[in-house]
Amino acid sequence: MASAKERRFEITGGALCLDLANTVDNRPTLGRELLVDYADLVAWGQQAGALSQRQVRALSAAAERGPGRARAALARARSLRETLFRLFSRTTAGRSPDRADVGALDAALGVAAARRRLVDVGSRLELAWSPEAEGSLDLPTLAATLSAVELLTSPRLERVRICQARDCDWLFLDASRNGSRRWCDMSVCGNRAKVRRFRRRVRPAERRARPAQAAASRANACSSSRRATR
Ligand SMILES: [Zn+2]
Repeated sequence: MASAKERRFEITGGALCLDLANTVDNRPTLGRELLVDYADLVAWGQQAGALSQRQVRALSAAAERGPGRARAALARARSLRETLFRLFSRTTAGRSPDRADVGALDAALGVAAARRRLVDVGSRLELAWSPEAEGSLDLPTLAATLSAVELLTSPRLERVRICQARDCDWLFLDASRNGSRRWCDMSVCGNRAKVRRFRRRVRPAERRARPAQAAASRANACSSSRRATR
């Protein structure tokens, strides 16, 4: 069951589509897959706020009934994730999106939009998933698709950043007042950068004079790279 798996995801992107793109750790170096099986996709969807408890139970049960279908749905989620990473990493660099990626997202939008419906909630209408979508193993992917289309066509796109840590490449929406956020997560990449800056400032002679302290500093730097080791 997905709910018993309890893989913990860092939800720091500020938008569902960016959090899906961030389900690969250390993309430029290790490229560590965090969506190893369908249960991971359900756990991610729940933690990222895309799935309710009821939907988690329904998708987990459906995956148990059809493991082959669940694997295919996971492959579609990973494929969308790579499309989103390429689209957003290009836009953050001021480059035009690749036409093939736009076409892929456009096709995904067609599928997702066809699974939305209007529901009457008293004095107003809301958009909700159709019963077909509610029972679909693709529900997390459909939700991430709509999130991506909304963000790519919104002024907030200018606030999408890519983490400046060399080995990270996570995407995030910069909600800081002056738009100066540099790290996906200050407690991970920000701290590692701070440790590196500190080590550059410590003079070699000072290091030689305090070998034990220098060793402790190295140990601290290693322990803070938890994304590569967890
Ligand atoms: Zn980062």
